[in-house]
Amino acid sequence: MDYYALPIGNLIEQLSKLPGIGRKTAQRLAFYILEMEPLEAEKLALAITNAKEEIKYCSVCCNLTDRDPCYICSDDRRDKSTICVVEGAKDIIAMERTREFKGLYHVLHGVISPMENIGPNEIRIKELLDRVYNDKLKEIILAINPTVEGEATSLYIAKLLKPLGVKITRIAHGIPVGGDLEYFDEVTLSKAMENRREL
Ligand SMILES: [Zn+2]
Repeated sequence: MDYYALPIGNLIEQLSKLPGIGRKTAQRLAFYILEMEPLEAEKLALAITNAKEEIKYCSVCCNLTDRDPCYICSDDRRDKSTICVVEGAKDIIAMERTREFKGLYHVLHGVISPMENIGPNEIRIKELLDRVYNDKLKEIILAINPTVEGEATSLYIAKLLKPLGVKITRIAHGIPVGGDLEYFDEVTLSKAMENRREL
């Protein structure tokens, strides 16, 4: 049993639910927060509440955004005939850092994973299909993380899209299996985009 006052215990418990935050770190953060100026602590709480309230899915690409369509979808300088499909919103940030890709994105918000009961309907595949049906597209680039589930998801999507007559490519695997787009440097990611191959 912990010897914390209940509100401290609650704070530690909530913080320890965050990824990469163990019990020890949660405790350290909780005590840090308690030492903060009340106004600063309030700003932190407010930032969480506001982000949750104001950030929605872009109705076009499903990216996280505070305006709809998001700033990428509404940017006229971007090539609207190419869509790069990624697993999560943070992968867009990794791609944008390379400054190579000038098309649009589509965020799946996950991959198909039978082990975790995530089927095709649990991620944003239908929204992608709608875009392929309705927009004039030249190419769909699959840039899903090369994990086992990611590979299976890429193949599943490729199979669905193939009959629609759009060119489907997949980024090259200079990217190690099990890797996470977010952690690749710009050069590796640029190369992977450059060497993409048709499916
Ligand atoms: Zn968008």
